Amino acid sequence: MGYWESEYSMQTDLRGAAWRRWAIAVPILVFVVVVAAFLVVTVVNSHQPEPQESVYPEEIFGIPVHTELLPETLPARPGERRTIKYVVIHETGNTAEGSDAAGHSAYLLSGKSGDTSWHYTVDDHQIYHHIPDDEIAWHAGDRRTRDGGNLCGIGVELCVNEDGDFEKTFDNAARLTAYLLDTYGLQLGDVKQHADFMDKNCPQTIRDNNRWPEFLEKVHEYKNLIPSEE
Ligand SMILES: [Zn+2]
Repeated sequence: MGYWESEYSMQTDLRGAAWRRWAIAVPILVFVVVVAAFLVVTVVNSHQPEPQESVYPEEIFGIPVHTELLPETLPARPGERRTIKYVVIHETGNTAEGSDAAGHSAYLLSGKSGDTSWHYTVDDHQIYHHIPDDEIAWHAGDRRTRDGGNLCGIGVELCVNEDGDFEKTFDNAARLTAYLLDTYGLQLGDVKQHADFMDKNCPQTIRDNNRWPEFLEKVHEYKNLIPSEE
């Protein structure tokens, strides 16, 4: 075998080795890319908000919930779907005897509230559900502010009627809030006061008595009682 011949065959061997390396590397590379893409899609999907169809529970932590939805013919119920980002806590400010959750449901259904509305009213023994959670209501006073209380919040009104037991109402509202956080995949930081969205002292007695941290603590405790689905 001459000098040139041997060099020629050496080059062929080298080329063959390179091809073999590619033949192994390319499928591995493709496999890695496919697995990585699959992982990225899985992670992104797991961070998508849960499907936010409104729920209509009949009871929450033992508190009866009455669903009395406002008709869409009322201006108080625009019927617009939205993304749920907050639970917005209010107080009715109505201390009159009998102005409990049932009373506020009747008030909303009468149409006398005009274009004011909210999703739930809570008193010392029951809850009324007025508007589907996945629809806008007009309770936060911030009109159509992007990411605002009206467009993204579930409005919860606590009754302050003088013939009611506010401590129980306070506790019931914390249970409802915990349930809503769990249902819609929200965090404790997503529990807001009406005052976070406009200059109004609401929820008034909670604010005046510095009880907001206590409210959040209760929500946190009740949320921890809800069994995880995982
Ligand atoms: Zn309010």
